[in-house]
Amino acid sequence: MQRPIKYYGDPILRQKGSLITDFNSELKLLIEDMVETMYAEAGIGLAAQQIGIDQQICVVDVRPPKEADVLFNYTYDGKTIPLDLFMPMALINPSVTITDETEEVYEEGCLSFPRITGNVHRPIAIACQFQDVHGNPHTVTADGLLARCILHEIDHLNGVLFIDKMDQRDLSKQSTRIKQLKRSHKA
Ligand SMILES: [Zn+2]
Repeated sequence: MQRPIKYYGDPILRQKGSLITDFNSELKLLIEDMVETMYAEAGIGLAAQQIGIDQQICVVDVRPPKEADVLFNYTYDGKTIPLDLFMPMALINPSVTITDETEEVYEEGCLSFPRITGNVHRPIAIACQFQDVHGNPHTVTADGLLARCILHEIDHLNGVLFIDKMDQRDLSKQSTRIKQLKRSHKA
């Protein structure tokens, strides 16, 4: 079931998510809803806060269009397996390690900030440990778009938003829109 998106101004987006301890059927349903909502909104990632839930879970699907080349490197539990085998992926209780501090700039958007984009600097390579729907631990390493997407979503789980890291110039260009958004979605 598709769930309504929470927009900037809603205090839930600043809430740090609590750890998930029950790996039950309710969690499975939540993941299904999050994936459905992400696809319906044409996003490549969605964090629980964005549908009003303050828990440590996000979903990601950065598969390129069919026949397009994958423009990032990754491993899943140490192996390079096809993306289709683990995407869409749910990252539960994720923690991230930066494996290459070199920063790259890229224009990001966010489903909680409609029509607002801006350049964000982020490190280029990460390793992410997380649990799956059954509670089993996994590690993904990634660079490029997958690394960026995971970093953006894990920020959400800690109440951090892309405007906090956006280049100052882009931020000031968007400041009126951001203020309007905040005003219209205040609880
Ligand atoms: Zn976002």
